[in-house]
Amino acid sequence: MRKFFVYLFAFLMIFFLLPALLTNRGEVSASVKEENTSKEDNLEQENTNTEEYDYKQYGIIKLLHKSTNETEEVPLDTYLCNVVSAEMPADYEKEALKAQAIVARTYTIYKIQNKKHENADICDDSSCCQAWVSKETRLSRWDEDKRESNWKKIEECVNETKGKIITYEGKPINAFFHANSGGKTEIPVNVWGGTGYPYLQVVETAGEEGYDQYESEVSLTKEELIDKLETKYSDISIDFNNQDDIKILEYTNSGRVKTVKFGNHNLSGVEARTLLGLRSTNFEISRDGDNIKFAVKGYGHGVGMSQTGADSLAKEGKNCFDIINHFYIGVQITDVNSL
Ligand SMILES: [Zn+2]
Repeated sequence: MRKFFVYLFAFLMIFFLLPALLTNRGEVSASVKEENTSKEDNLEQENTNTEEYDYKQYGIIKLLHKSTNETEEVPLDTYLCNVVSAEMPADYEKEALKAQAIVARTYTIYKIQNKKHENADICDDSSCCQAWVSKETRLSRWDEDKRESNWKKIEECVNETKGKIITYEGKPINAFFHANSGGKTEIPVNVWGGTGYPYLQVVETAGEEGYDQYESEVSLTKEELIDKLETKYSDISIDFNNQDDIKILEYTNSGRVKTVKFGNHNLSGVEARTLLGLRSTNFEISRDGDNIKFAVKGYGHGVGMSQTGADSLAKEGKNCFDIINHFYIGVQITDVNSL
């Protein structure tokens, strides 16, 4: 009988106490790890709290819905969940989505301070301000089994970066972003002209070639090319037998097309991109039989943060702050209430 109790005791030790001790060890090593984390990691820790943040004057934003011309008042971070879910695929790395949340918050604050619309802070049109999609529409576009987890992930990314914005010399930056840089970002002067964005430089990012947006092709017949160019240049005339009549004349520092010759007209790369429906100004021209072929790298204007680049950096283990500092030069990540 006594032997039985000895066995029972040993049994209890192995099955209950030992796992409990091991679990405790796990916790101990986690707290040791916490103590050893770098300054950046500590910043990361601070941001994981989901407590309410007092946005003060930025708490509620006036959002204009372009299609109905109605203005809605929404809490800033609620609005940002709709924006982030509209701007970046939910299956991207969490640190990339967090970078997107900080970028979107910065852009929103910038718009509040530099108003474009009379009775609203910002609108829901991506070609004017920033993309926005209602939660209902967003959920309906995801597979049913992903809806809850995707939305939760977006909310976490907004919550974990609460209050954080990107500033340069104490002011919110104009946080441009695009889908894929094709390996190198562009400076604004080559896209829209004008200067005054020292934080937007040409930066290289590895890993963008792994995404669908990296390469595309447009092949046009001679007639199609003329038709498209005629929409702006009614007197366009190209000698297709002369190889030099269609030619890239100049590149920007980032390797994008600055000037391209089409017969009797020289166009900027940006103009050619728009008229010919190319994904970016980073293109090469070749002959494909009777057709003119445009081999394009990247997707978007190329200025600021590349979203696929952000995802690629996150996959390498970079956090949202590293990602932001990679694409925006000399910036600070600050609290919106310190403005
Ligand atoms: Zn707008």
